[in-house]
Amino acid sequence: MENDKKVVLEIKDLHVQYNTDDATVRAVNGLNLTLHEGEKLGLVGETGAGKTTLALSILKLLPEKVGEITKGSITYKGEDLVTASEGHMLKLRGHSISMIFQDPMTSLNPTMSVGDQVLEVINLHFPELSSAEKTKKVDEMFNMVGIPASRKGEFPHQFSGGMKQRIVIAMALIAEPELLLADEPTTALDVTIQAQILELMRKLKEEFNSAVVLITHDLGVVAEFCDTVSVIYSGMVVEHGTVEQIFEGDGNHPYTKGLIHCIPSLTDTSKRLKPIPGRMPDPRNLPQGCCFADRCPNCMEVCKQRLPEPYEKDGHMILCHLYDEKEAKNA
Ligand code: SF4
Repeated sequence: MENDKKVVLEIKDLHVQYNTDDATVRAVNGLNLTLHEGEKLGLVGETGAGKTTLALSILKLLPEKVGEITKGSITYKGEDLVTASEGHMLKLRGHSISMIFQDPMTSLNPTMSVGDQVLEVINLHFPELSSAEKTKKVDEMFNMVGIPASRKGEFPHQFSGGMKQRIVIAMALIAEPELLLADEPTTALDVTIQAQILELMRKLKEEFNSAVVLITHDLGVVAEFCDTVSVIYSGMVVEHGTVEQIFEGDGNHPYTKGLIHCIPSLTDTSKRLKPIPGRMPDPRNLPQGCCFADRCPNCMEVCKQRLPEPYEKDGHMILCHLYDEKEAKNA
């Protein structure tokens, strides 16, 4: 499927590892991803699949001396971020590329009023504005995320979890970033607030036309919010497609099928959900073949020997030997 919109973010063959005294942890292993302007991409996978490491790599916020990009490229609007200087990244972070973290309290300063925290972001990115213009911008942003501007003098502990996340979203969007990375932004919230936050992100995304990477383990959230989906396993994209291709297509990666079977259904009367058996391989010691082989109900001999080549049709990519075989049969 052709997409004629401009590419905002392109990641090619990215490898990221953490070097500790005892071992090398290979968190991202040859990951490819393309994001177009205005696109909402869901990045789905279990804990430890490499999703957050990927977001930290894009922002160059990997833990110093431990996290390392060993191979590949991350290109934001044509410029390579892997080799970008810290000074340049400081200009991009929060201005062109923003991030929302799972727990709003990790992003808010408990000793500062929320209004001052939003103002701090404005001071950083819009130093040319007058004081009155800055105050107006703060008030507008509070109103936009549904919090009365009259509460801007209050402190984070005076707000509920959902309201705190709204303030964090206001801070992330105030500079109108072209790329928004949202790492499990709704996981710490209850379901009704979750829906409100997704609606708010959708509204603000329309307003600013930001491209969004929504990192989550929740396929329901992805189906509701995203245009496209990348399923990550052991630091690799094992399937990528539109929401329709992933949820209603005629073929999925066995791991994606397992994730879809884990979603509770109102119509399925069976008493138990069907979890994926086993665990993700140890990132200190990855297998030479398909990383899902030990858990896969379709595993073949070839799967344990070598990694599959990506199979692609109409923009729907699946990394699985089952589809290699299909292609061979169709040839
Ligand atoms: Fe399963 Fe083999 Fe496909 Fe891996 S390559 S997902 S083991 S069928």
